Amino acid sequence: MCRMKKGGVMEISVKNEIGTKDEKCKKCGKEWIEHWELNMSRNCGQCRNPFCENKENNDMVGAHVVTVPSNGISYILPLCRSCNSKKESLGIFIVDSNDLCKADECIKENIK
Ligand SMILES: [Zn+2]
Ligand SMILES: [Zn+2]
Repeated sequence: MCRMKKGGVMEISVKNEIGTKDEKCKKCGKEWIEHWELNMSRNCGQCRNPFCENKENNDMVGAHVVTVPSNGISYILPLCRSCNSKKESLGIFIVDSNDLCKADECIKENIK
C-alpha cells in the first residue's frame, strides 16, 4: 500500500526483511548504514520507525527491509540498533519512499 501526500512524498509500507545475510555491501565494502549515506548523499539522520521509542538514539544501522507487498527488492533503511534487532516483531510500518536505498545497487560498482 502506498499513497501520495502533499508535496510528492510517497508513503510506503515496509517491514524488516527476515534472514538477512551480509553485514556489509559487497560492492563498496562498507557497513550498510554507510552504503545508505554513500548512495543517498546525505546523513542517515534518525530512526525511520515511526513507533521508535528512542528517536534520540544515534546508534544507527542500515536495516534490510522489504515493501509490503514485496516487489522482490531488498532496501536499506536507517533504523536504530534496537528497532533493527526486533526483526519481524517490529511489524509493518510506513516510511517515506525517498528513504529507501536499494541494497543490490551501489554507486561504487561503477568505479573500477
Ligand atoms: Zn554499497
Ligand atoms: Zn528505532
